[in-house]
Amino acid sequence: MTETFYDVMRRQGITRRSFLKFCSLTAAALGLGPSFAPKIAEAMENKPRIPVLWLHGLECTCCSESFIRSAHPLAKDVILSMISLDYDDTIMAAAGHQAEAIIDETIEKYDGNYILACEGNPPLNQDGMSCIIAGKPYLEQLKKAADHCKAIISWGSCASWGCVQAARPNPTQATPIHKVPGLAPKPIIKVPGCPPIAEVMTAVITYILTFERFPELDRQGRPKMFYSQRIHDKCYRRPHFDAGQFVEAFDDEGARKGYCLYKVGCKGPTTYNACSTVRWNGGLSFPIQSGHPCFGCSEDGFWDKGSFYDRLTDIHGFGIEANADKIGGTAAVVVGAAAAAHAGISAIKRARYKGGDE
Ligand code: SF4
Ligand code: SF4
Repeated sequence: MTETFYDVMRRQGITRRSFLKFCSLTAAALGLGPSFAPKIAEAMENKPRIPVLWLHGLECTCCSESFIRSAHPLAKDVILSMISLDYDDTIMAAAGHQAEAIIDETIEKYDGNYILACEGNPPLNQDGMSCIIAGKPYLEQLKKAADHCKAIISWGSCASWGCVQAARPNPTQATPIHKVPGLAPKPIIKVPGCPPIAEVMTAVITYILTFERFPELDRQGRPKMFYSQRIHDKCYRRPHFDAGQFVEAFDDEGARKGYCLYKVGCKGPTTYNACSTVRWNGGLSFPIQSGHPCFGCSEDGFWDKGSFYDRLTDIHGFGIEANADKIGGTAAVVVGAAAAAHAGISAIKRARYKGGDE
């Protein structure tokens, strides 16, 4: 008889009570509401377990580090019990030839039915020699695994966009997964961020494994439930932005008062991610809450967009409330302009106010 997710969890020592709690937590994390918890439970009790091959190319392992630190221990235990049965060379017990044999076994046994989770990307220059795994270029391993998989998850900004190893001049020609020439044309979901938020990762993989489909994606292939709004849209410092109250230097009075970080380089107005809603470390905080500007780590090419501390400039605005699908590739430019214009107008108003014009 084929093993279900529920069977696996029980075998790993997870009680039925914990399992049901996990289903409720997952439904909440996905924004699906409490009525979805029984559907998740039913799917996990009846669907055969879907294997996951988690491969690592050029990367720093921050996605895995984020993932295994998912704040809710239950979610972490359940997810790890679901995926660690297959291949992830960072967390699996096997090593060396034994580990490599597991990849071949999984591909053969679950041909066309496993999820390929990619952390990092392959370098294409010099026949892929800048990333060698088990004596062969990672590119070969990736292509073989992609040929036989059901779908691909591009974890983090490396797999989704290229990240620091693809920054100019990109000497190894590090290439994001969806741009790798000759890769089998499989559905790809991007979960960008450097790293992505742990709860976003666990929610996305649970959704895929439970419902055997991707959640709704935006035009760039990101799950809308986590990437449809900018950091700026839900930032708790937004009232200071709207009031024209800005930090001018990191140790000034505005910084101490928690003013908006736009003028010290915040890329929140052009960055689509869930940091200002889901936050980090179990919802404890996020970079802006700690007093540092967002540097747009989940956006394509963020390393090549100048200093993290340069403010967004140049443009003429449209509605600050637009979403990713509506504004697409022009978002960064136009919203940055709106932000710049807004900051300028606010400054003029403040100057006038001080001068007694109003
Ligand atoms: S510019 Fe940055 S700090 Fe200011 S409101 Fe927007 S996201 Fe928050
Ligand atoms: S606040 Fe910005 S830079 Fe920081 S993790 Fe979120 S998206 Fe990345």
